[in-house]
Amino acid sequence: MQRISILYDASQAVLSTFELDEVLDRILTIVRDYFHLEGGSILLLDKERKFLTAQRSFGKEPCTAKIPWGEGLTGAAAKLKRPIYAPDVSKDPRYIKGPTDTKSEVAIPLMVRDQVVGVLDCQSNQLDFFDSETVDLLTLFATQASIGLVNADIYSRERKRTQQMEAISGMARQATSVLKLEELLVELCNSIVKLLPQYSVALLTAEGDGTLILRSHSGSLKPPIETSQAVLPPGNPAQEALEKRTTKVLRATTSGEPLILFHTAGSVLLLPLVSAARPLGVLVVGAEAVTGFSEDDIATLESVADICATAIQNAYYFQQVEQLAYVDGLTGTFNRRLFERRIREEIDRATRYQTTLSMIMIDIDHFKRVNDEFGHLLGDEVLRTFSQLFHSALRKPDVCCRFGGEEFAIILPETSGPNALLVAEKLRRLVASHEFAGIPHPITISSGVADFPRCGNTRDDIVRAADASLYFAKQAGRNCVRFPESSPAPTS
Ligand code: GH3
Ligand code: MG
Ligand code: MG
Repeated sequence: MQRISILYDASQAVLSTFELDEVLDRILTIVRDYFHLEGGSILLLDKERKFLTAQRSFGKEPCTAKIPWGEGLTGAAAKLKRPIYAPDVSKDPRYIKGPTDTKSEVAIPLMVRDQVVGVLDCQSNQLDFFDSETVDLLTLFATQASIGLVNADIYSRERKRTQQMEAISGMARQATSVLKLEELLVELCNSIVKLLPQYSVALLTAEGDGTLILRSHSGSLKPPIETSQAVLPPGNPAQEALEKRTTKVLRATTSGEPLILFHTAGSVLLLPLVSAARPLGVLVVGAEAVTGFSEDDIATLESVADICATAIQNAYYFQQVEQLAYVDGLTGTFNRRLFERRIREEIDRATRYQTTLSMIMIDIDHFKRVNDEFGHLLGDEVLRTFSQLFHSALRKPDVCCRFGGEEFAIILPETSGPNALLVAEKLRRLVASHEFAGIPHPITISSGVADFPRCGNTRDDIVRAADASLYFAKQAGRNCVRFPESSPAPTS
């Protein structure tokens, strides 16, 4: 009867809380008070199942033991999955002497569903203190204690996961509000590292041909590499993970075969970034341990990857919409709105770095006649051809915009007036020698050039000067290029 009441009290005590510290305390209180022992400790088995580490103890000395699997009385109990009793510890070769007066000791495995989770170690200062009834009772109690410990572990993992999920949803709110792709990719990487500081992180985006480009990262890379470059050879495991749309774990092998990307990673997780069936890239996460990434970790990181994919998809969409807002519907080149934005940005940049920039204002000569003679539709086609001709002749940093009607404005960053004159002259010749489909005679252009800071410091100064130059070109008989009057006239 007394045994039943002990067990009843014990189960009530250890199963009525989910806090690990409390469960540990309650188990030891029961062992001390109900069984009248001088010392006791609870050791838990680590994830790798290699060591038993003391979590809590009572008695003369606090127990801080870390005991290898299979060693000592406790290690043996864990390995053999049964209680190990030493009625006289001094005679048991397995006994590891501690700083106590222990005379007899029983180590009882803590098990749930045949899995050892730890050991309950009970000590007495009397020889042969534990009779078989006491060992049986302690073993029964240990079964309940094990359930209490596992529940507390599940609870703490759930709580950690809830906290993580809250942090992830905070990250999602923040990430989806950043719409500029470049900023977003850096922001995502930073917030993942803030959320999960134990990992190294890299974000790769997929190009049309499947190449993965490194866009942002934390942690040292191997080899060191700049962002905006392809970092992995074709057919790499990250590409494979994206193609198959499945998360992949890579673990360092004993042969020392290096893992991808991170310098110190013992394991690497490859998470495909996919949104609306579109492969967007790969989130690469590195952990130091070869055993990094439990199932829970992977589930958390998959949620993070989903957020990254959604945010990147949003940013791509925004980029598209933004681009459409800056594209001229007829010719496909940039429109006046983009010109106004870029000219100001370029003037700001040139002011800051004390460099120069130029612009060319181009007007098609007698375009009204082209329309009148060949019709508006062919006129439209000619405008499209102009856009193509200009693009074919300009450098990548140059910005060609349809300024309005049959006028084009070209911004030439970091280009001086004389060099812009050469460009304008090249375009003039290109146009004059081009045979426009359906038009039996050449079409020509007149151009006015202006440069910063020679013509002024503001957008209005530069555009006005380019307009004035264009006016002089028309005055001079068309099919020519002019610079503001005060400057030397070009030799065309
Ligand atoms: P110049 O500049 O040499 O003085 O003569 P112009 O005939 O080109 O000058 P003007 O500015 O008088 O005429 C511009 C013409 O461009 C008028 C208009 O019919 C034509 N135009 C403007 N926008 C478009 C367009 O989108 N499509 C077509 N087909 N024509 C356009
Ligand atoms: Mg005009
Ligand atoms: Mg014209």
